[in-house]
Amino acid sequence: MDFVTGHVGWIEVICGPMFSGKSEELIRRLRRALIARKRVQVFKPALDDRYSAEEIVSHSDARMPSEVIRQPGEILTRLDWRTQVVGIDEANFMGQPLVDIASQLADSGKQVIIAGLDTDYMGRPFPPLPDLLCMAESITKTLAICLRCGNPAKHTQRLVESDDLIVVGARGMYEARCRRCFEAGVPKQEYLEFARPRATPGES
Ligand code: ADP
Ligand code: ZN
Repeated sequence: MDFVTGHVGWIEVICGPMFSGKSEELIRRLRRALIARKRVQVFKPALDDRYSAEEIVSHSDARMPSEVIRQPGEILTRLDWRTQVVGIDEANFMGQPLVDIASQLADSGKQVIIAGLDTDYMGRPFPPLPDLLCMAESITKTLAICLRCGNPAKHTQRLVESDDLIVVGARGMYEARCRRCFEAGVPKQEYLEFARPRATPGES
């Protein structure tokens, strides 16, 4: 409960594979909060430096200013007490401490909107999303389009060789795959050849 406004807080989670529109949906909700004249703060982890340091950016190039943090505890130290809506992108890079922090924020009356991958490149639950889903008042699962067959895709297929849980990258390193087309880990080389984008006409 926010003792200034009397508002009850809550947690909304947006989860799914890469390219499924999580960041787009997060940005859409945050823009609506701004239209409602709410005070908004947005955070993303320093690890995700694919596009822009000071913004969250979707694959369709929707953008929103954000603060970059190195650990989830920084959300509390940087929080302006007047903030009503807290947006968090790439939650899967923030680790387990985010669960308690999100709860504290919601308990103190904030609307917390969190986006992140729910499974990793092996198809395993990606912490801390499972716990966040249990804590949340609202859950949205977004699906991408499988690049193999066009069906709805819930998996993030890694296309490069690595056993590391986190390999930051976008197109060319990952693609969306459905349940049938997904191969846990890295696909075999012959599949990689198949997956390579076709050259555009005129290119040799
Ligand atoms: P996420 O945050 O889940 O990675 P984004 O919100 O950044 O997703 O990007 C979603 C956008 O990515 C879509 O609106 C679409 O324009 C684009 N896109 C690229 N590849 C795909 C795909 N395989 N399936 C669906 N959308 C895709
Ligand atoms: Zn498929």
